[in-house]
This record gives sequence, C-alpha cells and structure tokens, in this order.
Amino acid sequence: ATPTAVMVGTGVGATNGLLIKGGAVLEDAHKVDTVVFDKTGTITTGRATLGERIEFMDNSSDDNFLLQNLPSKVDKHNLCLWLAACAEMNSEHPLAQAIVNYAKTAIGFDFTCSKEGVKVSKCAVIPGNGVEALVQKEGWGSYWVRVGKRDFAKAKLGSTNNEELSTDVSRRGDREVEFLRKQGQVGVYVSIVSDNHINDTSKKRYVIGVLGILDSLETNAKSTIAALKNLGIEVWMCTGDHELTAKAVAEAVGIELENVCSDVSPEGKADLITRLQKRKRENETLNERQQGKVAVVGDGINDSVALARADVGIAIGAGTEVAVEAADIVLVRSNLHDVVVALHLSRVVFNRIK
Ligand code: ADP
Ligand code: MG
Repeated sequence: ATPTAVMVGTGVGATNGLLIKGGAVLEDAHKVDTVVFDKTGTITTGRATLGERIEFMDNSSDDNFLLQNLPSKVDKHNLCLWLAACAEMNSEHPLAQAIVNYAKTAIGFDFTCSKEGVKVSKCAVIPGNGVEALVQKEGWGSYWVRVGKRDFAKAKLGSTNNEELSTDVSRRGDREVEFLRKQGQVGVYVSIVSDNHINDTSKKRYVIGVLGILDSLETNAKSTIAALKNLGIEVWMCTGDHELTAKAVAEAVGIELENVCSDVSPEGKADLITRLQKRKRENETLNERQQGKVAVVGDGINDSVALARADVGIAIGAGTEVAVEAADIVLVRSNLHDVVVALHLSRVVFNRIK
C-alpha cells in the first residue's frame, strides 16, 4: 500500500467512527488472524444493574456495634449496599456504576455522604479484583471495605495471598454467590475489617453480604463474532470473571468453550496474548505464522496491559481512559461491529489498493 492509500484508509476509518493511531496500525491489522475479546463491558454492555442483594446483617440484633450511629437512611437491611457504594464511588468499572446507581435511588446515597459526616478515603481500584476504601463516621467507626472477587474480599489488608476469614460467614457467601451465578448474575463479595484491627491477625475480615449484578449482552456481539469467523479469524474470550459466568456468555455469543479463559488476572490476559502470538499451528510455515497477528478488544483498566501487548489493541470508546490510551484503534461509537469494519478496512487498504 502507498502512504496515500494508508492515509485515505485512516481517513475513511475516522468518518466511520474509528480512531486509528497511525498508518502502521492498519498494516498490522490486515495480518490479524486471532481476536481476543474481554467480557465485561466489551461483549456485555457494561450498563449493568443491580440484581439480587443478600445482606448478612439482616438477622443481627440492633445492639450490634456495627448498627449503631449509622447515617439516617442506613440500617441493617442496607448496610452492605451502602458500604459497597462508598467503596465503589470512585471506580469506573461497570459493576461499580451498577452498585452506586442502585444505592443512589434505594438509600439516597449522595445525601448520606455529603450531609452526615461520612468520610470515604484511601480508595483503591485493584484491576481484575475489586475495590477497597476506608469508610469512617463519628460514633460509628472506621472500617476498611472491600468489594470484589472472593479471594480479594477475603484477604488481609495489604496481603496478596489469602488469609481465612470467619468460615461460617464465608461459607454462606459462597453458597449465595453460587446461587447468583446460576441465575447468570456476577456475584461479588462485600467484606469489612475495623481500622483498629488491621494489624491484629486474630481479628477476622467479615463478609457482610453479597451483591448480584446483571449485565446484558452487547446487541452486536453475536453478529460481530460470526462476521470475524467469516473472515477466517479465530475468536477468543478472556475474562477476570468466574468460569460459570464466562462460559454462559461465550456460549450465547458463539465462542468455542476451548477458546475461553476465565479467572484471568490483568497480567494473565497479556500472557495469553504472548502465547497466541508465539504459537505455531499444525502444517503452518514460519512465514505464514509471521502473518498471524493478534488483536485484543477491551474496555477496562484490567485490559490495558493486554491492549499494549497485542499487535493491534482495540478499545471501546466508552471504556476507561487507560484502555483508550493503551489502544491502537479506538471504537469511538462503542459499537462492537466496528471491529469488523476496522479489520475489513485494513484488508482493503493493504490488499486491494496498490
Ligand atoms: P472482565 O475481564 O470480564 O472485564 P474484570 O477483570 O473487570 O472482568 O473483573 C473481573 C472480576 O473482578 C469481576 O467479575 C468482579 O468479581 C471483580 N471486580 C473487578 N472490578 C470490580 C469492582 N469495581 N467492584 C467489584 N468487583 C470487581
Ligand atoms: Mg472489561
């Protein structure tokens, strides 16, 4: 392709909602033979809503110290939701937005925070795992809250490997989360530990409830995947979410189960890309393999390492800033079908316009 053809191609991309960061991108894109999709926010809409909510404090007595001096609309029936929303307030993750939005309508969350001396600090997003924050209120106390995956919610502050927490509560969490997953919801754990006890290993972290989040499939996901397969492209899905949920989604959009990787860390996603880039298929000459570039499509902070590692990183425009920055192509309209448009365009530029 001539430089002019590449320039024209980039321009055509722009009018079709594709932000292509340089001519070299189109050259790599026309060699793509494998596309790896993220799940949450990419194959699913990311406009998630809160489904089931199981509050473990429901059966506690009101003289429990955790239930005293709470903000006015917060009680034992919504303590878990309130704390989860506090911790998720600063996260861009689709699950976070579902939790915060629900809390806003259910307990007037905004009011609670600004008017009643509630202080939320030390907010941290741990990509692929969840969020953590310190929630404080005079008279009530100071608690570290975690929302997210089982092992993360269970772990001691600052520790990467898991310290056990109160087993009966934890077992109830597992039971409830499995129940949520069977209904197709993403189950997350909400746990707390008092700020006074963070260095005291005898004090356990408590799971105070689990939240189920409903996320629907992106309308174009199934047809996009079918179209890519028609172009002779192998399609994979790689997610930080649990296997049960991942398989259900893959099946619904037509991705083979052997091409599904679940429970994958952000680094694990990048490792998968390297593995796919290096593999050599049966009966394939080295020359053919060098043609086989790998594209990644993702939306989250947790996808940014993989997006950078990929030969062609493609970010959903509505995704997080970090993902958009790490990508080579941005789908400005956030329409998944534009993945096909981008790859098709690159093939036109490099194979037909000479
Ligand atoms: P995906 O790879 O499908 O985009 P993520 O890596 O973003 O999924 O998330 C994987 C899992 O980590 C989620 O299913 C959830 O259990 C947990 N998680 C990640 N971020 C959050 C968050 N902000 N709040 C709660 N849980 C989270
Ligand atoms: Mg995602």
